[in-house]
Amino acid sequence: MSAPLQHIPGTFDILPDAQGTGGSDLAPAAAWQWAERTVRDVAGRFGFDEIRTPILEPTELIARGVGGATDIVQKEMFAFEKGDTQYVLRPEVTAPVMRAYLEHRLEQRGGVQKLFYIGPCFRAERPQKGRFRQFHQFGCEIIGSSDARADAEAIAFMMAMCDAFSVGETRLRLNSLGDADSRPRYREALRAYFAPYTADLTETSRQRLETNPLRILDTKEERERRLLEDAPRLTDFLGDAARAHYAEVKTLLGDAGIAFVEDPFLVRGLDYYGRTAFELESDALGAQSALGGGGRYDGLAEEIGARAPVPAVGMAAGFERFFLAMQAAGTVMPGTPTPDVFLVAIGERATRWAFSQAQLLRRAGLRTGYDLRSTSMKAQMREANRSGAPRVVIAGDTELDAQQATVKDMSSGEQTTVALDALARHLRP
Ligand code: AMP
Repeated sequence: MSAPLQHIPGTFDILPDAQGTGGSDLAPAAAWQWAERTVRDVAGRFGFDEIRTPILEPTELIARGVGGATDIVQKEMFAFEKGDTQYVLRPEVTAPVMRAYLEHRLEQRGGVQKLFYIGPCFRAERPQKGRFRQFHQFGCEIIGSSDARADAEAIAFMMAMCDAFSVGETRLRLNSLGDADSRPRYREALRAYFAPYTADLTETSRQRLETNPLRILDTKEERERRLLEDAPRLTDFLGDAARAHYAEVKTLLGDAGIAFVEDPFLVRGLDYYGRTAFELESDALGAQSALGGGGRYDGLAEEIGARAPVPAVGMAAGFERFFLAMQAAGTVMPGTPTPDVFLVAIGERATRWAFSQAQLLRRAGLRTGYDLRSTSMKAQMREANRSGAPRVVIAGDTELDAQQATVKDMSSGEQTTVALDALARHLRP
């Protein structure tokens, strides 16, 4: 006999209670529900409308949208072929949202489209703490505005989520990647700067120097980081418009009391960003320190087939990392809710009665439990206790003949006799 089958490493089950391995111990299902509700509440306050796109997308959307030189496209896509179609399990949601925006002509709704989403993403990365193969993101996309306020709004939304989740200390890093006209000049400057040092670079960075030199700025290699100290800065290459935009974003954040640090080496792992780029970090997370990030991506729409650029900015964050940061900050997550009432039945008739009575109480809005096994009163009381229900209704055949039941308050131990037709009213919390 082989052992029972198990989950795929890097994925996890979300269980009723916070217990398990891999990632199941992050948070119980009730905490996920609360977290999703919280995102919806905060998104509502910001005026974001929900969008849900499929988990399956055409591989080409991600290859073109996220960018062929990125790690995501080169190494991390769960992609497969079926018939003559290439599918990918979405590794992120921005390109899918932009696809949906263009496909359904969402600009016709009028005004700026402020959208938020919640859902799973998939990346074939090496699993480790805070890094999964199926993880869950929330995020927002603001489409149709090139105003610096839109950039600041996406950041403000992310920071509001940090407050709502009580994730503790965070650090917001900010940079401007400039416009399409400044980046090629900067890329050349970087190539020229690194040319004498190619022998000192890692194989990956040597490749990046060819394909996407900006990604070298991302390096974690100590030696490369030292080289970077004297490297040309992207911010010195910004055109007037990009510089003014960046300055305005910083002013808006400052006015709103949102603290940030400027990081001229911040680039993001996705190709579609231009102008604003930001990342939110927590020291509590260890190696996978990013809680979320985002930026402006005015070029993405054209990349995936639009005839003209569509100004847009957004952010994405991982629920798992938020939960880890909450744990580190000692924030208590909501647990599984208890029933309002638990029915204990003694005797055959009472057992049948309890079933129909449970349906009546549930119709009256009460969370009602009872033991689905035929057991002794003692065993049922044990179940009632375990359920955490604050009140227990106890009925035997003789009480039912008198159209009555006993209601026990589990914290005081006090017992009251209640007429059956008054039970729902009596039990309402
Ligand atoms: P990215 O699109 O890579 O910037 O990811 C946005 C956010 O999603 C990150 O800041 C993380 O919070 C989360 N995230 C990305 N990849 C993973 C992963 N493999 N496992 C868990 N969370 C992730």
